[in-house]
Amino acid sequence: MVKKIALLGATGSIGASTFEVAREQASTLKISLAAAHSQHHKLCALAREFEIPILAFTGIKDPALQEQIRHENPKLRIYFGASELLQLLRNEDYDIGLNAIGGSAGIEATFAILEAGKSLALANKESLVMGGHLVAKMRGEKQIIPVDSEHSAIFQAIGKHPSSEIRKLIITASGGAFRNLPLEDFGKITPAMALKHPNWDMGAKVTLDSATMFNKALEVMEAHWLFAMPYSKIEAIIHPQSVIHSLVEFIDGSHLAQLSYPDMKIPILYALSYPQRYESALVQTDLIQHAQLSFEGIDRQRYPLYYLGLQAGLAGGLMPTVVNAAVEAAMQLFLSERICFTDIHSAVEETMAKATQIADPDLPTILNANIEYHRKCLEATHKDIKHMEIQ
Ligand code: NDP
Ligand code: MG
Repeated sequence: MVKKIALLGATGSIGASTFEVAREQASTLKISLAAAHSQHHKLCALAREFEIPILAFTGIKDPALQEQIRHENPKLRIYFGASELLQLLRNEDYDIGLNAIGGSAGIEATFAILEAGKSLALANKESLVMGGHLVAKMRGEKQIIPVDSEHSAIFQAIGKHPSSEIRKLIITASGGAFRNLPLEDFGKITPAMALKHPNWDMGAKVTLDSATMFNKALEVMEAHWLFAMPYSKIEAIIHPQSVIHSLVEFIDGSHLAQLSYPDMKIPILYALSYPQRYESALVQTDLIQHAQLSFEGIDRQRYPLYYLGLQAGLAGGLMPTVVNAAVEAAMQLFLSERICFTDIHSAVEETMAKATQIADPDLPTILNANIEYHRKCLEATHKDIKHMEIQ
């Protein structure tokens, strides 16, 4: 049977890996709809190569450009705007929606796929971090197949075991680019250094969040909602080789793990082939090459943003949105060299301290707060800089 896939975030890092998977699995996986924000040259070329009949661009607003793109691609059905994409997701014929949109725009796409009763392969972290409580209500008994490698590992290790047999979920973390950097050198970290990941090839936001380990706090939140596990039963540890993608400890003391060379094509392929496994030669794992697998705890001084993120996850409600927006803003300031790497934590902490908690926010509240706290963090941190300059 051929599975039809709606691929959202098709021009990004996960999108690129998905096309590689689709190229190898052409007899079973067919991309029937693809969406991006604005990279039309890239997506139209992919649409021609993979014979994708329907495209959507949520970020192209200029009518002249829209007309030109349609004119250049007369055989494709092309839509523009976020609401058009949501309509397509509700009405078009596809089997699996792979949501790899970067950022909060992914939340509504998650809702639309679930509403349409389709299988959801979820990479977009914001859906669970910011809207986990809403997704949990909406999914009911429907299964969400995780694409994030750690959650894919946990999903595979749990198999058919009920949650009553699980003692703990153990999420592994590489430790990012600065695991071995002396703490006194953190002030000298440049954007280029933070944008390099030792093991994984990923988009900029995930790579930066790996350097601070904030990404791991987001993944603890994702696991909380995906697997309906209390925070007390989720732990993260550093595993620098990124070969064990995560583990499940069962009540009898057994640990089950999933291992492979770190490559997103493995969890993407699993999400698209589930509940089967497809033959693939895309990723080879030579265990002799990875002869040493080691583990460490997460140091508070080195990774303060991880602990701040956990605090927000535990608080729940609007706090995960606040912390995520503040981290994005602080990263923006760091990337434009307005603040140092070591200033990121205090900028985020201050924004959180001034935030107003809302226990059960609806989607408009979440989306507004995302913009509001991003702005507040930028403004508050800017003021400090001016103040410092005046002094
Ligand atoms: P990238 O930044 O590489 O790509 C983002 C994609 O989303 C692009 O195709 C972009 O289109 C599209 N996009 C951005 N905004 C919108 C919007 N408003 N509407 C529709 N499409 C939009 O991100 P990644 O591929 O790295 O990550 C995607 C998601 O998956 C994120 O939530 C990330 O946290 C998660 N994830 C990523 C992992 C990875 O290995 N990369 C691992 C685990 C999770 P355009 O190119 O046109 O701007
Ligand atoms: Mg991950």
